[in-house]
Amino acid sequence: MTVKDNLEVIQTHIRKSCAKVGRNPADIHLIGVTKYVGVERTREAIRAGVSHIGENRAPGLHAKQEGLTDNHDTVSWHFIGTLQSRKVKDVIPTVHYIHSLDRLSLAKEIHKRAEQAVNCFVQVNMSGEASKHGLPPKDVQAFLESLTPYTNVKVVGLMTMAPYTHDEEYLRDLFRRLKVLQTAMADAGYEHAPCTELSMGMSNDYQIAVEEGATYIRIGSALVGNEG
Ligand SMILES: *Cc1c(COP(=O)(O)O)cnc(C)c1O
Repeated sequence: MTVKDNLEVIQTHIRKSCAKVGRNPADIHLIGVTKYVGVERTREAIRAGVSHIGENRAPGLHAKQEGLTDNHDTVSWHFIGTLQSRKVKDVIPTVHYIHSLDRLSLAKEIHKRAEQAVNCFVQVNMSGEASKHGLPPKDVQAFLESLTPYTNVKVVGLMTMAPYTHDEEYLRDLFRRLKVLQTAMADAGYEHAPCTELSMGMSNDYQIAVEEGATYIRIGSALVGNEG
């Protein structure tokens, strides 16, 4: 399948999910996750109309950015993976969004290395699985409050990675709970943390995520396949 064909299928699904719950498809931003594929397949995605690209490791990010200099300015780059503090300086200058803010030491490092505010999502562990990164939901508000001094960290929203399962009700409940938390944080009105966005939904579960309020969905295998 070409990326263009895959994209059409995904967009049809997004429109259907939006229609079901009365959302506007224009409010859903599709991030093409290219960690499984090379520069050529990533170029194909951009040519098909994908304007957000996500990578989970610094070398993958740099390989795509260096290989795609012709498109570089039209793409928003997202760092979606676990970020080690010592890698912050390598990704900061070229990313538009970091989806994996989950600890104060990382916020401090972002603040120190950035020359202007960086859009971040706070990663939340909704499933409670020890293998998943992110803050427990009950810690999110205090964490946001602790970020006040680090003015180069702007929390645009919350992010989660759901476990891989076909249990639709489980996933729906998980996404719904993150939406409730995000709305509460947005209503709290923190100046440095507007928290208006929700990064949730991957190849396996993006339709449910869209129905439950996702504004950024991160799609890898269903969009570009897997060359690995
Ligand atoms: C790999 C990855 C994705 C995309 O996964 P698919 O199931 O292939 O769509 C999304 N988010 C994160 C954080 C990832 O690491």
